[in-house]
Amino acid sequence: MSAARRTKASPDPELRRLPAVEKLLETPELTPQISLYSRPLVTAAARSVLAELRAGIKKGLPPASDIPKLIVSHLRRDWPGFMSPVINATGVILHTNLGRAPISVKALEAICWLGGAYMNLESDLAEGGRGQRTGDLRRLICTLTGAEDAVIVNNNAAAVLLTLVALGHGGEAIVSRGELVQIGGGFRVPEIMEQSGVSLREVGTTNRTTLKDYTKALSDRTALILKVHRSNFVQKGFTGETSLTELAGLATQYQLPLIYDMGSGAVLDTADFGLEPEPTVQDALRGGADVVCFSGDKLLGGPQAGIAAGKKEYIAPLLEHPFLRVVRLDKLSAAALVATVKSYLDGRAAAEIPVWRMMALAETKIKSRAGAVARRLKSNGIAAEVIKGISMAGGGTLPEQGLPTWLVSVTPHSSAESLARKLRLSEPPLFARIENNAVLLDMRTVFPEQDALLAPLIAAALEG
Ligand SMILES: *Cc1c(COP(=O)(O)O)cnc(C)c1O
Repeated sequence: MSAARRTKASPDPELRRLPAVEKLLETPELTPQISLYSRPLVTAAARSVLAELRAGIKKGLPPASDIPKLIVSHLRRDWPGFMSPVINATGVILHTNLGRAPISVKALEAICWLGGAYMNLESDLAEGGRGQRTGDLRRLICTLTGAEDAVIVNNNAAAVLLTLVALGHGGEAIVSRGELVQIGGGFRVPEIMEQSGVSLREVGTTNRTTLKDYTKALSDRTALILKVHRSNFVQKGFTGETSLTELAGLATQYQLPLIYDMGSGAVLDTADFGLEPEPTVQDALRGGADVVCFSGDKLLGGPQAGIAAGKKEYIAPLLEHPFLRVVRLDKLSAAALVATVKSYLDGRAAAEIPVWRMMALAETKIKSRAGAVARRLKSNGIAAEVIKGISMAGGGTLPEQGLPTWLVSVTPHSSAESLARKLRLSEPPLFARIENNAVLLDMRTVFPEQDALLAPLIAAALEG
């Protein structure tokens, strides 16, 4: 820069107090940001913050020590969806917005062990030629569920779509009007059916569908019968659905496949965890479903995946369908799923799989952890109470069923919304619940090693 320019551009001596970008990037507060976002993104944020400060120079500069903080909040604003771990104190175990099931340590180890190496993903060790992708994983799923065969794809929506395309294309699928559901963001059963080239033959009414309704709808165009688990809502009052057993009888009589989209697909009995019994995948297959579709990252507690398990004759067309290539499972998820299934086979699911560990947490344990957080808050002069509450399974499972839990309740002088927002924007982000202008933290979904972080995060958010 020429001397003439410099004198012209720097009339304000205050400006010289602004640190250089290079110096800023060396501050310890920005080191973790560089490893999270990468150096160019942090550099760009630092430049933007410095430019804003220069532009607002008349209002004066903040202390130099505050500038890294401004850069951190600029990064958060500019990259609001940048992936980073968060603390889930919402009490919703399968929180779709927070990544659904956290996977087990064994599943993580499997990803490390296999993901960084070459592996026999599609290679036959004995013959050296091309083998079947996820062939042994399919057998493991069969061992776990009692199915004759299985197909594993990218997610359950894909498993349902593949099943419909392969078994029903050009024909009709009979489905109850009470089961034409929307699951979370955009998975609508009727729209999926439309895409699959299967026409929908809706039967019954919203609240009641009988076996006769299904029977009346049968024609030579019928390709399959579809049952969808009402996973995210309950119907009360004058309601009735046709049981799986009744449908299985009808399907057998007319030699049609009975497809059951279970959504969550528990393989452990939820009743053993103090919850209402959900039908398990094993029950559904024993009860006569020909193909059962379920997610890998709901109650199974594994990676994102979709599983269609059932009779060989109905799984075979899925395995041969060209669409399978479009929705196939990736190798990292396959590695994690193998490890997850092994935890079940070893009878160690409740100990090893985070989703089930959280379900099984004793109330007394939760209460004492909540008490410890509340005491720490009080010693910081923050009023906090430990109150009774309810945790939810979430993820479209057990919609009205809660697990008794204990919450840390903090009522801020300002609004609970604003405190909750500050907590979400803290480092690490903390997600809580709001009720009656109180911020509630459910310890059930907090990993015990995160407990010590809660009080300092709340104290900082109340101050800032
Ligand atoms: C969750 C759910 C799906 C979708 O599963 P993804 O794994 O999210 O694709 C489909 N059907 C039902 C009944 C569900 O509950």
